[in-house]
Amino acid sequence: MKLDIMGLQFDNVTMEEAAACAREILAGLRTCYAVTPNAEIAYEALHDAQLRALLNSADLMLPDGAGVILASRILRTPLKQKVAGVEFAEQLLSILETTGQGLYLLGSKPGVAELAAQKMTERHPDLRICGMHDGYFQDDAPILAQIRQAAPAVLFVCLGAPKQEQFMQRHQGELPSVRLMIGLGGTLDSFAGTVRRAPRWMIRCNLEWLYRLIREPRRFRRMLRLPKYLWAVIRKRIRR
Ligand code: UDP
Repeated sequence: MKLDIMGLQFDNVTMEEAAACAREILAGLRTCYAVTPNAEIAYEALHDAQLRALLNSADLMLPDGAGVILASRILRTPLKQKVAGVEFAEQLLSILETTGQGLYLLGSKPGVAELAAQKMTERHPDLRICGMHDGYFQDDAPILAQIRQAAPAVLFVCLGAPKQEQFMQRHQGELPSVRLMIGLGGTLDSFAGTVRRAPRWMIRCNLEWLYRLIREPRRFRRMLRLPKYLWAVIRKRIRR
C-alpha cells in the first residue's frame, strides 16, 4: 500500500515486505525501478514537480531515513519502518544468491565498485556480479551496451540523486534482462568501506545524520534540508 508523505508516494512496507516485493519483481517479466528518498531529497521534491513525478513513477519507493519516518508520524499517516537503501541492497544480495541471477554495479568513483564487489562476494560467495562501471561517464550509450551484454537482472544505480533517478527513467525500456534497477546514492562507497556507516547505537538512536555531518562537514548546507523539510511538515500539520 502507498502512503502520500508530502507529495511522495511511499510504499508502506517493512524490510521483509520490501524483500518480498523484490522477489516478485525478480520473478516477473517487467523492468521495474525503485527509489530510496531520504528527507533531503524529499525536501527537494517539495519544490520540484519534475523530481516529484520522477520519484512517483517508481514501482517501489522506500523511506531511506529517519526524517521521512518522523514526517509520516507528524502527519498522522505513519510508515511502518525505515527501509534504508543500504540494508535493502544487502537483502537483494541474499536474494540474488539464491536465485542465481546477475548483478551489475553502476556508479561511484573509479575503483570503488571493484572494491564493493569484492566485499560483497566475501559475504555472499554465491553472488554473481556480472559487470560494473564507475559513475563518471559522459555518454550513456556505451554503458548501456555494456550492461546489455552483461545481462544482469538487478542494476544498482549509484550516481547520486537526481542523476540516478533520471538515468533509470530514461533507460527503463532499453535493458531487457534487467528486472529491478535501484537508485542507491552512496551505497557502493559504504560497501567498499570508503565511507563508513555510523556505529550501531547511533543508527538505533536515529543519529546517523549527525555521524555523517561530523565525518563530512561539507554536507552541512545539504543537511539543512532536513530541518527545513520537518518545518514544512509541521506547517502542513498545523494548517490541517
Ligand atoms: N556519483 C557518481 N557520478 C556522479 C556524481 C556522483 O557516480 O556524476 C557518485 C558518488 O561518487 C557517490 C554517489 O554517487 O558514490 C553519491 O553519493 P552521495 O553521498 O552524494 O549520495 P547520497 O547517498 O547522499 O544520495
